[in-house]
Amino acid sequence: MTARILVVDDIPANVRLLEVRLLAEYFEVLTASNGPDAIETCENGKVDVVLLDVMMPDMDGFEVCRRLKSDPATSHIPVVMITALDQVSDRVRGLEAGADDFLTKPVNDLQLMTRVKSLVRLKSLTDELRLRASTTRNIGIEELLSRNFAAEDTMPKVLLIDERKTSVERIQKMLRDRADLDISSDPHAGFFQAAETSYECVMISTAFADFDPLRLCSQLRSLDRTRFVPIILLAEEGEEERIIRGLELGINDYLMRPIDQQELTARLRTQVRRKRYNDQLRASVTQTIEMAVTDGLTGLHNRRYLDSHLQTLFDRAVARRRPLSVMITDLDRFKAINDTHGHDGGDEVLREFARRLRKNVRGIDLACRFGGEEFVVVMPDTEGAVAEKVAERIRAEIAQAPFAIGQDGTKIEVTVSVGVSSVLKGVDTVAALMKRTDLALYEAKSGGRNRVVAKAA
Ligand SMILES: [Mg+2]
Repeated sequence: MTARILVVDDIPANVRLLEVRLLAEYFEVLTASNGPDAIETCENGKVDVVLLDVMMPDMDGFEVCRRLKSDPATSHIPVVMITALDQVSDRVRGLEAGADDFLTKPVNDLQLMTRVKSLVRLKSLTDELRLRASTTRNIGIEELLSRNFAAEDTMPKVLLIDERKTSVERIQKMLRDRADLDISSDPHAGFFQAAETSYECVMISTAFADFDPLRLCSQLRSLDRTRFVPIILLAEEGEEERIIRGLELGINDYLMRPIDQQELTARLRTQVRRKRYNDQLRASVTQTIEMAVTDGLTGLHNRRYLDSHLQTLFDRAVARRRPLSVMITDLDRFKAINDTHGHDGGDEVLREFARRLRKNVRGIDLACRFGGEEFVVVMPDTEGAVAEKVAERIRAEIAQAPFAIGQDGTKIEVTVSVGVSSVLKGVDTVAALMKRTDLALYEAKSGGRNRVVAKAA
């Protein structure tokens, strides 16, 4: 794993120390000796993790962190605070400034590497999502971020897996009014509970009499539904090795007992904030993809989707020597509907038509709004004669019952003309197939409308 790490410290010897150790692990290293330089380097992009000294003249690490985290252009870059003092108050201040983690000087080598690697992993996931989201123009990353900050107020849903009653009670008390906390005292049951409910964080105690807590961590990481849920390990003093193994398995953070309330809530907040940010990115990517291939009015696929998939379906049918049929439907005299009932009325007719169309095709059929009042259905594994029957069923379904539109439910008669064609044995192309289908539709129109015409294969 290669990544670019920015080391920020006002003392050159400290910078050099970290630089050497990171270079030995094949990381690329950038350096800065003060806050403003560090911020500028981050703004220029391509920093994967920032290792940030707390004690610096002029602008201290807390301030640098706060500025990085409040700027949408840099807020996604993980920041590790490095403090000389192993003081809970410093850690809490750092986490409140938005730091993702902290290390204390002298920096323990294993901790440094595992923390950096785990943050780099997380960052690359975020980067990929950001990239996908930003390649589509209708998504504003910055707007997404501001929504993210607004959502921070809601209580996170958290699962605590811990079999010790006193510990559970203490944590319950600490998180009262700060988290919607579920408890599982059994690690097996806890695993299923985590898989069934969507938690924003799972906290796992290491203190089971008869169970390896890391097994639970690795199970959660290997299951699709829990792969991205933040895991915080609640460890005992002296469990360094176990924590490092845990970080390698993908836990996101840990706390040492006795647990400090402020540190617990700050770390929990950091994990939840990051999860919500990534969830929103993921959702917006999915939504963008859906929007790009869906017709907004009818919810059917759009022409772009048809254009990109028809060739694939066609090639597959030819390769497997399976039939494939296409129908093009066109609402009769749709312009008159628009003229009489307005565009809202026309839209209602299109939506109702799409609903009836969808009801009469199978899940594997590809139904699209081709444009205007024209719809295309691609039917894999379907002979022409069968496709013709389907088309006839759709035609009848439209003509049989009038469409109710408007507030008063005005009933109007709607009919549809349909052209049907199928892939020919021997040489055929998508363009030729569509042309034959279009010709069939034209014949249905010129033959008097409200009818199906099939071009025999
Ligand atoms: Mg310093």
